[in-house]
Amino acid sequence: MRILLVEDESAIADTVLYALRAEGFEAVHCLTGGEALREVARAPFDLAVLDIGLPDIGGFALCRELRRGRDLPVIFLTAQNAEADRILGLEIGADDYVTKPFSPRELATRVRVVLRRAGVGNGGAGVAAAADPEPGFAHDPEGKRIRYRGQALDLTRYEYGLLAALLQRPGAVLSRAQLMDRVWGDALDSGDRTVDTHIKTLRAKLREVDAEADPIRTHRGLGYSLDNG
Ligand code: CA
Repeated sequence: MRILLVEDESAIADTVLYALRAEGFEAVHCLTGGEALREVARAPFDLAVLDIGLPDIGGFALCRELRRGRDLPVIFLTAQNAEADRILGLEIGADDYVTKPFSPRELATRVRVVLRRAGVGNGGAGVAAAADPEPGFAHDPEGKRIRYRGQALDLTRYEYGLLAALLQRPGAVLSRAQLMDRVWGDALDSGDRTVDTHIKTLRAKLREVDAEADPIRTHRGLGYSLDNG
């Protein structure tokens, strides 16, 4: 799997290159759009990661040029969430985007997901590993540890408590009050948004393991449940 990275900030590029290569991808870095166009003319790539703010040509225009006459999945690096509609919409039609600052590992996961979705190749260690993920959660109540798809989760005390409560009865809806009661007990410093805030950070940690999975379900006005599939 050959990945093209176009990013004019060397510090960002270095961490991204490191994460991609750690996943078994071959990654080529260009500092400018002009350099990128010369690279793709030389040899084909399976996916491109493009910074939007480049010195010589805008990332969107570069995307159009790179895709002229070829099928190339693209992930954008963007400074603002606000651009998401344009990036993923008809106008640009990118496959995904990440907002700076981002975790290089998360980006590498997105690359894997987009490649899999695009049906590119069967080789590459990263792609093969992702195509056959270990299912669901594994809970070790004595060690207070939870693994997700084979990976140990690094959870705070309350994130662990929430996930453990939901895992007790997969599929059952637990209200915010029930979760508050079980996880926070009689803690006085917790407010209305406490459960939602921790659900949010928990979801982010699960997405780091599998960008496509969203096993925690929100039931409007009722509470939350968990799919352990
Ligand atoms: Ca830039």
